Amino acid sequence: MQMTDEQLALIKKEFATLKERSAFYARKFEGIDLSDVQIQADFEKLPFSEKADLREAYPLGIQAVPDEEVVRIHSSSGTTGTPVIIPYTKQDVDDWADMFARCYETAGITAADRIQITPGYGLWTAGIGFQLGAERLGAMAIPMGPGNTEKQLKMMQDLGSTVITATSSYALLLAEEIDKRGLRDSLKLRKGVIGSERWGDKMRARIANELGVEIFDIYGLTEIYGPGIGISCSEHHGMHIWNDYIYAEIVDPETGEVLPDGEVGELVLTTLRKQGAPLIRYRTHDLTRIIPGDCPCGLVHPRIDTLTGRTDDMVKVKGCNMFPAQIEEVIKFVDGTSSEYQVMIEAINGRDVLTVLFETPLEGDEKTRCEEQLAAIFKAKIGCTPEAKGVPMGELPRSEKKTKRIFDSRY
Ligand code: ZN
Repeated sequence: MQMTDEQLALIKKEFATLKERSAFYARKFEGIDLSDVQIQADFEKLPFSEKADLREAYPLGIQAVPDEEVVRIHSSSGTTGTPVIIPYTKQDVDDWADMFARCYETAGITAADRIQITPGYGLWTAGIGFQLGAERLGAMAIPMGPGNTEKQLKMMQDLGSTVITATSSYALLLAEEIDKRGLRDSLKLRKGVIGSERWGDKMRARIANELGVEIFDIYGLTEIYGPGIGISCSEHHGMHIWNDYIYAEIVDPETGEVLPDGEVGELVLTTLRKQGAPLIRYRTHDLTRIIPGDCPCGLVHPRIDTLTGRTDDMVKVKGCNMFPAQIEEVIKFVDGTSSEYQVMIEAINGRDVLTVLFETPLEGDEKTRCEEQLAAIFKAKIGCTPEAKGVPMGELPRSEKKTKRIFDSRY
C-alpha cells in the first residue's frame, strides 16, 4: 500500500516529539533516530509493536500525554494474563466519534435512525463506541448492552429500532428468536452493523434474512480507538479503512516483510493522530489483504478484505495446517449443514483426533450421508479426514461475545 503524502507528513509530525513525550517509545526506539524516517521505506524498517509490549506497559506505561489531558481509559478483554490499558485524550474521543459517525453514514444510516446497541458497555470499547458514533451522527441511541433477549425484543418493537448493532453470534441468537416467535413483521429493522469477527456467508445470510436487514461489517480493536476505524460499504466487498487516521500495512506473518496489495497476510496498523496512546506498526494478528483498485461506491479510502482468520488461529493436525476460514468453506460447500459448527482436536492414545460437529436438520440415513460427504470434502480441501458428526439444530452454544469454534485440548 502506497503511503500518501498526508500520511507521511502526519507520521513525521508524530515522530518529531514522540520519544520525548513517551518513555515507552524512548525505550522501544532506542538507538533509532526517528528524524531519519523520511520516506515509506524508512518507516518499513521500524520494529513492530505487539500486544505483549502493551501488557508489559501495564497499567499506563503507554501514556504519551500529561495526566491532565487524559479523559478516559479503555481496556482490552484480558482473557489471558494482564489486560491492556489504553488512555484517550479529548481529541482521541472526538476523532473516534467522527470515524464512527462516518461508518454509520457509509452504511446509509442517518440522524432519523434508531440504533439499538447490544454490544457491552464498560471497560471495553464496544458499546460506548457504537453510542458515541450514534450521538455524533445525531441518531437515537438505544443503549441496551448485551443479553436479556426478552427486553431487547420488546424495545425493538416498541421503539421501532431501525438499526441493530451486535456481534455476529448475538445477532444470530436474536434472529433465531425473532423467527421462532414470528415477530419479523412487527419490526422496523433495516440495517445491521455487525462487529467484524470472521464469520461465514451462511451465517450472514441467515441473519440478514431472518432480521430482514442489510448487513455491514465494522472493524476495529481496543488498542486502536475501538470499533469504527473501518466498515463495509453498499458494495459489500471489503471494508474501507479511514486512512486519514490509520495507516494500514499487510505483512508476511512469519518474516514481517511488507506484502504487495492483493496478497493475504497480517494487518499492521499505525495511528496517525492518536495522542493518548499512539501505536506504531501494531500487529493485529488479523489475516486479510488490501483489495487493489478503486471501490465503485466512490469512497477513496482503501479497503481490506473480510478477515480470513487470526495468525494465531492456525492449527496443525495430523501434519496439515488449517485456518478457520477453510473449515468454514467446507461447511458452506456441503448441503444439509447450517452455519453453526465446532471443531474438536484431542490427543487420544498419542494420536490426534479431529472431530467436526455441525448442526443439521437432517436425520437418519440422510444425516449419515451428509456426515460422509463432509468428511470427504474436508479431506479433499484441507488434507486430513475428520470424524464428522451432525447434531440437531440449536444444540451448539451461541455466545454474546465472539463464538469460539475450534477447541484444541492437546496442549
Ligand atoms: Zn466502497
